[in-house]
Amino acid sequence: MCGIFGIFDHKDAATITYEGLFGLQHRGQESTGIVTSDGNTLYKDKGMGLVSEVYVKTNKEARDRQVALENLIGDTAIGHVRYSTSGDSNLSNAQPITIIHKGKEYSIAHNGNLTNYEKLREDLEDNGSVFKTNSDTEVILHLMIKSKKRNLENKVFDALSQVKGAYSLIIMTKDEMVAAMDPYGFRPLSLGKLDDSYVLASETCAFDQIDAEYIRDIIPGEILKINKDGQKAVFFLPKERKHCIFEYVYFARPNSVVFNEYMHGIREEFGRQLAREHPVDADIVIGVPDSGMYAAWGFSQVSDIMLKFAISRNHYIPRSFIQPSGRKQSVKLKLSPIKKSIKDNKVVLVDDSLVRSNTMKKIVKMMKDCGAKEVHVRISSPPITNPCYYGIDTPTKQELIASSKSVKDIQKAIGADSLEYLSLKGMLNCTRRCTKEFCTACFDGKYPVL
Ligand code: SF4
Repeated sequence: MCGIFGIFDHKDAATITYEGLFGLQHRGQESTGIVTSDGNTLYKDKGMGLVSEVYVKTNKEARDRQVALENLIGDTAIGHVRYSTSGDSNLSNAQPITIIHKGKEYSIAHNGNLTNYEKLREDLEDNGSVFKTNSDTEVILHLMIKSKKRNLENKVFDALSQVKGAYSLIIMTKDEMVAAMDPYGFRPLSLGKLDDSYVLASETCAFDQIDAEYIRDIIPGEILKINKDGQKAVFFLPKERKHCIFEYVYFARPNSVVFNEYMHGIREEFGRQLAREHPVDADIVIGVPDSGMYAAWGFSQVSDIMLKFAISRNHYIPRSFIQPSGRKQSVKLKLSPIKKSIKDNKVVLVDDSLVRSNTMKKIVKMMKDCGAKEVHVRISSPPITNPCYYGIDTPTKQELIASSKSVKDIQKAIGADSLEYLSLKGMLNCTRRCTKEFCTACFDGKYPVL
């Protein structure tokens, strides 16, 4: 998962991109980068860390970073916040990635994961291409410059015709921008308008951040060109939609509209459906912050069990799921129980998903240490049994507890008095789209493309 942002023809392009990236920070926390254009040259700056760490002004080094933002001149910009699923987490893999070919610069910001990257890279290297990163994204740029086509959109089309997997991306040159989405539409990308300028963002919450107006989603298979003449969808690679259902479960911000669905609303509905499928006799419902809170509210509504805000989250600790290392230490730093609310109560603990179960085991223990009489865990998505190859970091099947253990065994492993999951059918029926329009591979192993 990553967050991408673009703005074409606005006098404050770099600052707006910087602000837009704040809205997308939840999608990637490893590195931040912005590239701008003044119509002649691309100006680039990238750093490891959060947007606020890369572009700040509170100390000597940070003052230099602020100068870096001011040096990003021009009226067009793209930005990226990274969460690595392919390639190491280091500065050379930070995006946007830029290459120069025959005097022309191309810069790309990509969200997704290419499934045939290794083969494509091997073929390109056999034919003389020299890579400067080990990220899958760079392959797209090399395929573009191999294309004999002259126009940017035609080069992009040639490149994307050869790659497989998940990609929502923005490519810019000194005077044009192209947005594209894979034919399945795994990852979201939306088009908006700010004043007279077009903006693009992984999620609509970034538009709210900059007071831009949402226009529409980029369509699976679409290549959208933006230049001084306006915006135009130029090519379509038709395929069936397979939007990532996990965006609804966990990744997208609750104030975003993703694939035409309000995230807070769908998560509440998951919780309502979970309560219908798996009722329990309890005194209070507690949501695991932040992404379990909406389902907990839905569960409380249907079950008529009081919702209690009994876990306080420290917002200064990064989301554990998204960190490349250090998972085991982060739970206690991040979540603090409110003992008075928990003591002597039978608790329903609602969370959005169970990946490895380490976190849940600690939260259940936390509840019991606080004097909970019983802890019943309810998960507002089905058991995750398969890894994702489309941009979410669940690298091996072995790491997924539900791939090898039954629900009963997981319940014992986490120390809960009961454990139940939302059914896949129940989850899909909560959406307003045709149920066939979603990728559900991590729950059922049905991969749309490999
Ligand atoms: S495998 Fe799961 S996480 Fe990956 S795209 Fe499909 S639904 Fe989303």
